[in-house]
Amino acid sequence: MAGLTIKNLYKRYDNSGKKKNVQNDYAVKDLNLVAEQGEFIALLGPSGCGKTTTLRMTAGLEEITKGEIYIGDVLVNNLHPKDRHIGLAFEDYAMYPPLTVYDNIAFNLKAKGVDKAEIDRRVREIAPLMQCDDLLDKMPVKLSGGQKQRVNIARAIIRRPELLLMDEPLSHLDGKARQAMRTEIKRLINEIKCTTVYVTHDQLEAMSLADKIAIIDLGVLQQFGTPAEVYDDPVNEFVASFIGEPPMNILETTIVGESDHFLFTFENSNLRIVVPERYNNVVSNGFKCKVGVRPMDVLIGGADSKGSPEKVATFENLGDERRIGIHVGETLLMLITDDETRYKAGDIIKLEVRGEKTHLFDLKTGERIRER
Ligand code: ATP
Repeated sequence: MAGLTIKNLYKRYDNSGKKKNVQNDYAVKDLNLVAEQGEFIALLGPSGCGKTTTLRMTAGLEEITKGEIYIGDVLVNNLHPKDRHIGLAFEDYAMYPPLTVYDNIAFNLKAKGVDKAEIDRRVREIAPLMQCDDLLDKMPVKLSGGQKQRVNIARAIIRRPELLLMDEPLSHLDGKARQAMRTEIKRLINEIKCTTVYVTHDQLEAMSLADKIAIIDLGVLQQFGTPAEVYDDPVNEFVASFIGEPPMNILETTIVGESDHFLFTFENSNLRIVVPERYNNVVSNGFKCKVGVRPMDVLIGGADSKGSPEKVATFENLGDERRIGIHVGETLLMLITDDETRYKAGDIIKLEVRGEKTHLFDLKTGERIRER
């Protein structure tokens, strides 16, 4: 099985230059990515960021404006899709309605002239993997959304592709079914060990499935790393706020110098947070930037806490966790707690922040400001 290398890849649609947003001139701009053999890569980003375009160029369904795509060691820029040894599972189920599930799964092998007995062997090998062995005699119209998704994926992998390309394959499923299929996909990929590129706008899906996530915005790769890297060590404000649910709190702050430490201060708020010492070389009195902290790193202090007294603005009980919102100027700072107290708006809590978990971002560019 092969890996995938994308080098300096660009895509410009004929009409995309007309857009006012210059950054969006290219649907894909100077993309570099490497998926090692057997790795599961997620392309993640908001609608229109260029995920599908990248996948379609990799599949050979879209012309490349500039750059190179290698599957294994083979430059595939000019190879026909059928010669790229890829399996495709796109969000539409694209099944042939007059054919049974068996014939749908077998279709591509039949078209390639594979021997009937071999086709039968492979259909019966793949079907249990995708838990569609009891569906083989059914017609597509009789299938549920989840069953169709499973058949769709079985069709993609029966050719034993070197590279499996999936574009939002779970998009038609609702919450529970989606989660169940996510687990099935994970199990399947572990079993077939196929290099996989998976397009999604759902960060949970990317975090739970992928070995590495490529986070894209406006056609530009923002960060490519393991789920832990993009979560714990985001390179900029976009990645920090895109990964994590609820998202990271990001607040504008002015640094105020005290005798032996600095404080984060916020407009129209009494909240003061001690700046961790590690930032002492990058901040100064009056320095403005953004500070980010995840809701689970904002804590409610006990009775003797030196935390800042703050008024509860919102309280949501989600069963296993509670979410509390606090107004900091115009921004609602969220915190997540397993404290079972039922707070109500107006209650006062002592707010503490895990200083070691804070991130600083440049006010204008959104780039991460790193401690030196
Ligand atoms: P979504 O999650 O909504 O599918 P995406 O991240 O997959 O979004 P793409 O479909 O790759 O995004 O689109 C990237 C950009 O290219 C968008 O601005 C889109 O409008 C534009 N685009 C996509 N296909 C075409 C096309 N055939 N002609 C012109 N512009 C296109």
